[in-house]
Amino acid sequence: MALREEIEVLYRRQMVEWPEVSERYSALPGLKRRTATISPYGRARIKLVCNPMRSKSTLADLSREAIKMRPCFLCAKNLPPEQGHVMWTGSSGNSYRIQVNPYPITQRHFTIVAQEHVPQLIRGRWGDLHELARLLPDYAILYNGPHCGASAPDHFHFQAVPKDELPLTQFYLDEYMNVQVIVGTSDMLAVYSSNFWCRNLSFTTDNATKIELYCSSFIRHLPRLSDEQEPKFNIVAWTDEPDTDPIVTILPRRKHRANNYGPGKGHYLVSPGVIDMAGLITFVDEAQLRRISYGGAWRLLLEVSVDKASFDNAIDKFRKTKL
Ligand SMILES: [Zn+2]
Repeated sequence: MALREEIEVLYRRQMVEWPEVSERYSALPGLKRRTATISPYGRARIKLVCNPMRSKSTLADLSREAIKMRPCFLCAKNLPPEQGHVMWTGSSGNSYRIQVNPYPITQRHFTIVAQEHVPQLIRGRWGDLHELARLLPDYAILYNGPHCGASAPDHFHFQAVPKDELPLTQFYLDEYMNVQVIVGTSDMLAVYSSNFWCRNLSFTTDNATKIELYCSSFIRHLPRLSDEQEPKFNIVAWTDEPDTDPIVTILPRRKHRANNYGPGKGHYLVSPGVIDMAGLITFVDEAQLRRISYGGAWRLLLEVSVDKASFDNAIDKFRKTKL
């Protein structure tokens, strides 16, 4: 059975076998939502949703001490007995358990968990991301850096959500005539769109072996703190149509949470991860969802996106790299 069918079977089985999680998926269509065209950016549409089921993740203490103290919720030995999975091994030899996310943001929200308890670092796994995007053409494969959205920075994982749920994938196609080519080689194109709501660089290639070289040549120029093993960024990988080359979009970050993170007036309990950066922003407080202006939502994403000077500098150096 093809991987896309295997995970569909898993999803349907889990919706029957795991009532508590099935109820959370059933609750998704009833959540309060707003959809907005961000005016300064023409057609760019973002979605806002209030999803109190995500409180645990939004309010999580992600300090090193807190992570060390809690049992890892992605390790096989700590999973609930109802949690099923599909095994997948990439050409790299890395093996993953693909499992239904028990705290969904979208329908068919999967977590793709490394077999071993190893830190959230993308090195050595870019090819897996590229392969998964090709194997699951209805999905976007997602990566949260350890300091910008990953709720388990100590255990490597990707996520997968239906690609059509993410404003980013649609906007990328709408904007394609306006993108700026940064680097083009015989088998790769790297483009930037200045009309996005956050800084971005998208690689298109059919070469799953070289994707690591291409993306690493860019991210090595992004700002990185001395105690971080990789710069902060999120990744969205998907294919426009089945059997086309995967698109790998890197969204470089400045920080995890905005300065106005929190409860109370003028504050928002939003903890941006890759899905928020891709234009689907999760709130946990309905009053905050109603109150925020669209400009405010856009500023929130821009504030946690890497600053323009650092981005321009990385682009400039990447342009001069011999690939
Ligand atoms: Zn673990």
